Amino acid sequence: MADDDDWATAVEQHIAQMRVTTEDPASTNNQAISSNQVQPDQNQHATGDNNESNNPENGDAAEESLISKILASKLLEVSKTAQLDVQQRDPNSPLFSAKSFEELNLTPEILKGLRAMNYMKPSKIQETALPLLLKTPPENMIAQSQSGTGKTAAFSLTVLSKVNINIPEPQALILSPTYELALQTGLVVDKMGQFLGVQDLIAYAVKGNRISRGTQITQPIVIGTPGSVVDWITRHKAFDAMKLRILVLDEADIMINTQGHKDQTVRIKRSLNIDTCQCLLFSATYDERVLKFAKSIVKNPNILTLRREDETLDNIKQYYVRAPGEEKKLSALFNIYGILGTGQAVIFCKTKKTAKQVAVTMNAQGFAVALLSSDLGVEERANCIRRFQQGLERVLISTNVTSRGIDVEQVTMVVNFDLPDHRNEETGRLEADCETYLHRIGRTGRFGKQGIAINMISDDRDRDTMKTIEAHFKIQIEPLDPHDIDDMERKLDQD
Ligand code: ADP
Repeated sequence: MADDDDWATAVEQHIAQMRVTTEDPASTNNQAISSNQVQPDQNQHATGDNNESNNPENGDAAEESLISKILASKLLEVSKTAQLDVQQRDPNSPLFSAKSFEELNLTPEILKGLRAMNYMKPSKIQETALPLLLKTPPENMIAQSQSGTGKTAAFSLTVLSKVNINIPEPQALILSPTYELALQTGLVVDKMGQFLGVQDLIAYAVKGNRISRGTQITQPIVIGTPGSVVDWITRHKAFDAMKLRILVLDEADIMINTQGHKDQTVRIKRSLNIDTCQCLLFSATYDERVLKFAKSIVKNPNILTLRREDETLDNIKQYYVRAPGEEKKLSALFNIYGILGTGQAVIFCKTKKTAKQVAVTMNAQGFAVALLSSDLGVEERANCIRRFQQGLERVLISTNVTSRGIDVEQVTMVVNFDLPDHRNEETGRLEADCETYLHRIGRTGRFGKQGIAINMISDDRDRDTMKTIEAHFKIQIEPLDPHDIDDMERKLDQD
């Protein structure tokens, strides 16, 4: 069918373009994951098509994860005191920590792949996870640690070590929550396996990459989203799930929040031979729901948890500015900008309409600003953050689309042009969104530096929101007069 051909071509092009992205992380003009090429999964939030610009914008976990993967050019530094909890399946067996890849009995081809990727030694989670993952007989694992700590690399290495590339049928299945995340993982597997001497390691079971009746998959690794994988296994019988030797469930936290993915994953799990298939589950967050789901899929697991140190507000000076109405807020903003010095600032707005207005007004005043909202596709957002990271713009105006993805060392100031709030699902009332407040102002004061957060208070409701935030974090947010430059300079002096 022509439709199938179009899709196959789109997937090929997409992969080829993403290779360019990975190889040239500094490139600012590639459009590798432009939304016009990607047909989102049925359940996936489409980007860039929301015209109701007055609506509050919120982040999408799968998109945020994708953006951080596109931007992550290196391993996240985990502090030496970060705590790794290990619950071993067999508590009596000695726990081995691999300080080098050479200790792991990997094939020379895989070691060469790791070198080519510039992986010199295992990351904190890999040190403990890899010896357990590569054990014979295989053992199951549930692992949690924040994005950027090396989970994808750990399971890619495990998968490559476990499949026999001379057997022309799938032996490993990696489940991802979205099409784009599936392709990102495929890039890592391909790169790590580049010296295995196989052109075609991976089959992508993703929506649109339809296969015709009778097709038998010959690649050793299948990477896909749950719905398409169920289709391939049950409707098309494109491969025999009983022969899988390893199942990886990636981004389980995002997976369970996506309609239908959980049920389909359970179906896939039921079609495996649990006596011979190693089951691994990875997640960036680890609440009760994720753990319950993880335990229902992965029997007798080793459980690894790399605890993230709590984000703290200690090194962030927090102020509020009284500014009734947008005009007053804007004039306060200009004065604040004047004392920004050499630092960079992120300004958060609730709706993309406001964000655009602020950007246009600041531009008209001659300030170089960048605008980040859902009007941009995922790759464009990544480019926008990359430009900001490179210091090409000093001010980034953003809605909540990416409150977590902006990781810029030089951000010295965060301005809440609008305070973060959300609707309580039970009461239907708007209330302070303390978690988002923490993530937003956590963009400043990173790496032990002193940061500044300024909150714009327009009316009584804003005041109440701020009071709730103060009570929640047990802090006092101090007033700031944006027209008293001397006072501002004294208070905001960062040295
Ligand atoms: P996660 O899956 O936890 O988000 P990744 O496996 O994607 O983390 O790794 C984050 C970044 O660190 C990627 O750029 C990856 O290439 C790199 N990376 C992973 N493991 C290592 C390692 N052992 N040495 C150097 N870089 C690594």
